[in-house]
Amino acid sequence: MTNTTDAPDDAPRCSYCGEAFPTERLRALHRGLEHYESLDEGERAAFEDAYHSESEDLRSFRLRALAALVALYFGFLMTYAVVAV
Ligand SMILES: [Zn+2]
Repeated sequence: MTNTTDAPDDAPRCSYCGEAFPTERLRALHRGLEHYESLDEGERAAFEDAYHSESEDLRSFRLRALAALVALYFGFLMTYAVVAV
């Protein structure tokens, strides 16, 4: 497979298809999703750890996004209440 990315030479690479990733966690996620059948125990464990920490980050992002929307909503509501009277 040819390398079409401009990733640096020391970037973590998938040992199955050679694709480069910015972080070890992203490589572990890629290996689990694309090459799960070929992984050994350690690589599967790394995938599961990466998967769970990714889910946790996503959950925390959703909560922060919801909090920001609620704050924005009430900010506009209060501004409207003050300005429109
Ligand atoms: Zn791969």
